[in-house]
Amino acid sequence: MSDLYDLIVIGAGPGGYVAAIRAAQLGMKAAVVEREEKLGGTCLRVGCIPSKALLETTELFEKSRHQFAERGIIARDVSVDLPKMMAHKDGVVAQLDGGIQGLLKKHRIDRHFGHGRLLGDGKVEVAAESGTVQLSGQHILIATGSVSTSFPGMEPDGDRIGTSTEALSWPDVPNHLVVIGAGVIGLELGTVWRRLGAKVSVLEYLPRILPGTDSQIANEAQKILQKQGMEFHLGTKVQNVSADGQSCRVEIDGNAPIECDRVLIAVGRRPCTDRLGLDQAGVDTDQRGFIRVNSAYRTTAPGVFAIGDVIGGAMLAHKAEEEGIACVENLATGHGHVNYGNIPGVIYTAPEIASVGETEDDLKERGHEYRVGRFSFAANGRARAAGHTEGFVKVIADAENDRVLGVHIIGAHAGELIAEAAVAMEFGASSEDIARCCHAHPTLAEAVKEAALAVDKRDLHS
Ligand code: NAD
Repeated sequence: MSDLYDLIVIGAGPGGYVAAIRAAQLGMKAAVVEREEKLGGTCLRVGCIPSKALLETTELFEKSRHQFAERGIIARDVSVDLPKMMAHKDGVVAQLDGGIQGLLKKHRIDRHFGHGRLLGDGKVEVAAESGTVQLSGQHILIATGSVSTSFPGMEPDGDRIGTSTEALSWPDVPNHLVVIGAGVIGLELGTVWRRLGAKVSVLEYLPRILPGTDSQIANEAQKILQKQGMEFHLGTKVQNVSADGQSCRVEIDGNAPIECDRVLIAVGRRPCTDRLGLDQAGVDTDQRGFIRVNSAYRTTAPGVFAIGDVIGGAMLAHKAEEEGIACVENLATGHGHVNYGNIPGVIYTAPEIASVGETEDDLKERGHEYRVGRFSFAANGRARAAGHTEGFVKVIADAENDRVLGVHIIGAHAGELIAEAAVAMEFGASSEDIARCCHAHPTLAEAVKEAALAVDKRDLHS
């Protein structure tokens, strides 16, 4: 059997399924090929969404234990029903999967279940247990994402030593969890299990946490997370991880080994290109395995495009979505663009950490002159009322023309607050523009306005 499509998307993650929807909106006959039963990719199945469900739920638990009493709420004997917590998370995933299935139907996008492989000449093989089909497409879009990576001596064993996938579904709370890697995944999932009662030790190779994040924000995050009980061992090189029955042993360069009962390996992700037929189709990759593309997301094979984690850059669902849309719009209209300087990033610890644009570290390194305005949530009325006084907003503006170059926030709802900064920056706003905009009172967003005022040392409440 051979079906002819305008666009075949391999991989139905946020990059792939959104690209298919946009293609359908633009009048293309589109199909998605996905080997997992559920749509939505890593983000929905074993990433952003289930981790946020667990983070939201465990935050409620933590608040009930540490914040209710001081605000006059008496909640005795609050405890965790872990299977129910996991079932809630799985329910959220199932609902959203159903939503994507519905969206594909609505846009008349065919879903082909099975492993997709490029055969060259616009052909894609889809292999499933039930059989193999061949599809033909004028354009093929690879949106296969990424998978967790590990190092020799540090391989997941599917049981005690896990990646983010397993750590989203452990059946019991570890007594002592060792997290390898103080990146986004390590801190988010470390937070979940710490709140549920585990001792959490984070081992990080670098001398700091959250590489790439503005270092002032990362330092503040470390202080707050330590206060919450997370333990950090920075500048720590893990040599070997092994498990024996219920216990694990983490061997460290120059230090005594650590015994624990679970290990989370969170040392990054690699492009997912296994058995994709890249060589056969003539699709080149770089030395790290990422698919090479040009500015229109064209690979080295005619008619084959790629977007999202598999081409490198920030491994973020929304970056993949923007690329998918730009790629398809380019095909249909000749125009499509992603502003890589303005992609927000959010880390869903408590408090949240959110950034957009350049960090102070980047600017210093480049010798670019800038001014900084900072405002603490401790001086914000809404934050006080809600008990969210930790953290601050930092606005960085060009010293010469005041254009906002970056905004970095650590504080409650930072992930929502950063949207204002991203919109402002997209319109080329100056810090004065943000400072002159009326912000509702009392809101956390007033801290963004105050930080913008602080660039010119005109903040009103500090
Ligand atoms: P990461 O790259 O964010 O962090 C990995 C950390 O592991 C780094 O700090 C690195 O220095 C450290 N490391 C590497 N090798 C080590 C070793 N041998 N010993 C000790 N430390 C070591 O990777 P991640 O946390 O696995 O996340 C993967 C990707 O997924 C990232 O690109 C991230 O942005 C993305 N992600 C994003 C979100 C979000 O947006 N909220 C959530 C989860 C994941």
